[in-house]
Amino acid sequence: MDLGLAGRTVLVTGGSSGVGLATVRALLAEDARVATCGRDAGNLDKAAAGLGAGPDRLYTAVCDVRDADAVHRLVDGAADRFGGLDGLVNNAGQSRMKRLADTTPEDWRDELDLKFSSVLNPLTAALPLLRASAAAAVVNVNAVLAKQPEPRLITTSAARAGILNLSKSLSAELAADGIRVNSVCLGLVDTGQWERRYTASGSVLDYDAWQAELAADRGISLGRLGRAEEVAYAIVTLLSPRASYITGTSIDVCGGVGRGIA
Ligand code: NDP
Repeated sequence: MDLGLAGRTVLVTGGSSGVGLATVRALLAEDARVATCGRDAGNLDKAAAGLGAGPDRLYTAVCDVRDADAVHRLVDGAADRFGGLDGLVNNAGQSRMKRLADTTPEDWRDELDLKFSSVLNPLTAALPLLRASAAAAVVNVNAVLAKQPEPRLITTSAARAGILNLSKSLSAELAADGIRVNSVCLGLVDTGQWERRYTASGSVLDYDAWQAELAADRGISLGRLGRAEEVAYAIVTLLSPRASYITGTSIDVCGGVGRGIA
């Protein structure tokens, strides 16, 4: 099926690694034009070089999504290059492994700031362009944690729940502008985040065995971590004009780690 994304422009935040990079790759494969960002220029350049897309298809800029002015410059740069924007994937971010006992007030502020500004800054900057698109869609990359909190990720779980709630409000308010807003809720996906945790764990197991143990410990029905491209396909589907009647919802991409029915 033709997803109808050819020639459309999508901004994917955090496209230098993991889910963001896989999403950029999947969109380029659909002949979309893609803008993306990350904080580390070296990682961004390396990712862009690996994608093999020219400047007519790919725009990259160093940008921290917590910085509203920098995000405005990113969106303006993408609009100058491509002439508009049809989609936004709010993906940039990371989680915080902390329990209440070792969480400081600063941790709470930082986590809430990251989670909310990583959605609100790009959305605010992109809104005039999305309103002008004939088929605008926003996808917020969230986590199953939003619905199934874990005490070892207390700040992230709470912030994720807030973002899922926010996504629903945005979908209702922006429907009048023809902008659809949906979420994907991830379980455990094998990306830079888990590689860093494996390294920090000092485990004697090799990476595959460590992942298998992790999957068993977390009760993942499919018995393994997800792959970034498996998330990317769900994101691309939600961005597609073929999903024109889907808004205000979320898709779990979690291998069955979610315990809820929805
Ligand atoms: P990775 O660490 O592999 O990639 C994160 C990307 O986001 C990188 O490109 C990184 O680049 C960028 N980034 C991080 N912080 C910022 C920032 N403040 N401003 C701009 N760019 C930023 O992570 P994943 O692919 O695993 O994660 C993608 C999203 O999915 C995140 O929001 C994460 O929290 C969420 N998620 C992931 C899960 C998983 O199991 N992997 C589970 C649940 C949710 P740089 O560091 O150079 O800025």
